[in-house]
Amino acid sequence: MNTLKDCIDRVLTKATHSRPYLFPENTLVDAKLRVTGKTITVTNLGPLNIPPFDVAVGGVRANMPQLYAAAGMISSIGFAATQYGNSADHVIFRTLYNVAERDLVYYQGGNQGTKRVLSAPCMICGLVLPLANLTIDHQRPQSGGELEAVAKVFRTFGLTKEGPKGPKGLLIQAHLRSVNPSLATFGSVAPQPGRAAAAGTSLSERYTLNDQGALLLSFVLAAGEIQKLKTSCMNSIVNLRPACGVCNSSRGNPLKFSP
Ligand SMILES: [Zn+2]
Repeated sequence: MNTLKDCIDRVLTKATHSRPYLFPENTLVDAKLRVTGKTITVTNLGPLNIPPFDVAVGGVRANMPQLYAAAGMISSIGFAATQYGNSADHVIFRTLYNVAERDLVYYQGGNQGTKRVLSAPCMICGLVLPLANLTIDHQRPQSGGELEAVAKVFRTFGLTKEGPKGPKGLLIQAHLRSVNPSLATFGSVAPQPGRAAAAGTSLSERYTLNDQGALLLSFVLAAGEIQKLKTSCMNSIVNLRPACGVCNSSRGNPLKFSP
């Protein structure tokens, strides 16, 4: 999704040199859309309808460089709905989920042997399968989980009240915060069997946006692109993981909050 930064720009340019642009601030509380009661004001500081723009929320100046940075990172790991099946080709996906050439057991001509194939573990049961035999599990469910997926993605980028606690969110965050982000700083997520559960978390705070998160969401809403954001977050690497067919179909991912 290349449109998050575009969303911000499109809304900014609604402010002319003679007239500021005002729109309401929205947020997510427990992954539900809520108005905050504050107004976002865009003021065009230049003589023409081009930057610089000043943005204030309820009279307090917003940190726009930080907002642009978050928008860029979110866009870089989102996929269009038609593309998410290709996410296994993504280099970050391959690193996170231990995709590698492995010698797997096959029968050939009546004899047991091995074949070297591109493979990865199912993140739920740990069984190693060829990539072609793995399915893609949406961690926040496609049915009704769209805003939970938005909150989950925003959390990875520091846009919720409480930050990520799971191994994947922490890995992605450490990677993005490193001085010189490169894949060398990336680790892999261990499959669930034998992995300790994340402790000391507040479900509500993890699915409630902070001020920067509310600002970004409000720009997306003002640009009329909320559906694109939902789709992009649902199909973001943050929300996708490889799973075997049995785990993916039998388990189902329940909603964190009732609709
Ligand atoms: Zn499995």
